[in-house]
Amino acid sequence: MRGVVVENGSITLADDLEVRPPGPHEVGVQVVASGLCASDLILLTAPDPTPAVLGHEAAGIVTSVGEHVEDIAVGQLVSVTCQRPCMKCKACASRLYSACATTMYDPDPLFRWRGQPVRSLARVSSLASQITVDAFQVHPISNLDAPAAALIGCAVSTGYGSVRNIARVDSTDSVVVIGVGGIGINSIQTARLLGARHIVAVDTNADKDALSLQFGADQFVHVDPSWSVSELADHLSAAIGDTVDVVIECTGQPTVIAASVALLGIGGRLALVGISPRNPVAELDIPAVMAKHITVSSGYNGACDPFVDFPTIVRLAEQGRLDLAGQVSHRFPLDRIDEAISALRGGKVLRVVVDMVT
Ligand SMILES: [Zn+2]
Ligand SMILES: [Zn+2]
Repeated sequence: MRGVVVENGSITLADDLEVRPPGPHEVGVQVVASGLCASDLILLTAPDPTPAVLGHEAAGIVTSVGEHVEDIAVGQLVSVTCQRPCMKCKACASRLYSACATTMYDPDPLFRWRGQPVRSLARVSSLASQITVDAFQVHPISNLDAPAAALIGCAVSTGYGSVRNIARVDSTDSVVVIGVGGIGINSIQTARLLGARHIVAVDTNADKDALSLQFGADQFVHVDPSWSVSELADHLSAAIGDTVDVVIECTGQPTVIAASVALLGIGGRLALVGISPRNPVAELDIPAVMAKHITVSSGYNGACDPFVDFPTIVRLAEQGRLDLAGQVSHRFPLDRIDEAISALRGGKVLRVVVDMVT
């Protein structure tokens, strides 16, 4: 079967990939649509001699179920997500499932290609036409198209959970979302859903203005990526006109994280939910953090509880209260995976979806 294999920073669209069949608690899924995310590009820029199959958010049709899987039927359209908590460790006992050390770990490589084992990305590898995942990882879909449902596993759940679980936004909060990509746009619409009283979107790309307002922001502020911490803080403070209660920081850029402290008022909450792989260490103005009693919080995948948050997201999307289809800015067939990756690298996209069945 077909799949996108990355090895030492280069990709191959393989047609001779193999996946092992599902075990007793697993399901087999024919992938219909796969999201392509900036996290996939990290594997392309971090040379690793072990091949891996890209893709970590998808929608597909269940083709087989293990003997102990009772609530998933063959033929069901499902959204595939990357959390498969072990349910035994301290993180799982604390319901911090996305902190479970094994949740995205691949102890026995599921794929083989040209005689060698192949790792899976986040235990999903949705850029393969057939995958084997844990039954925990699939969520039935009844009223969404596959390209929209494909976004739930990463972009939508991370943005939703960042606002709902990590920053714990409510209707009394003013919120700044910095970085209007997949996480940011879903942070904006979740803050709107939760009734935040004022939402400001910030991005270095002025084209994100209309999009931010469409998804629920009250204001858009364009910033320059070359600015210093003080230039950024001064510009944002002047544009917003008051301190805010919450900053959802989606870029992971040290300069932006440092400037975020200046935007927050007394009791402010800073949610760090983006990672910059090249420069992951940020400096914070500790006296300001202490004087304003700022809480800094974080977590993978929006600290989502897969048993509560994923079904909730599916319901909200099926009710039209979260817009998933409107985020799909680009679609490519699997044959044009190179163009899909170029589009993602170009930075002008919101969400890229690869159609796996053409
Ligand atoms: Zn992702
Ligand atoms: Zn665990």
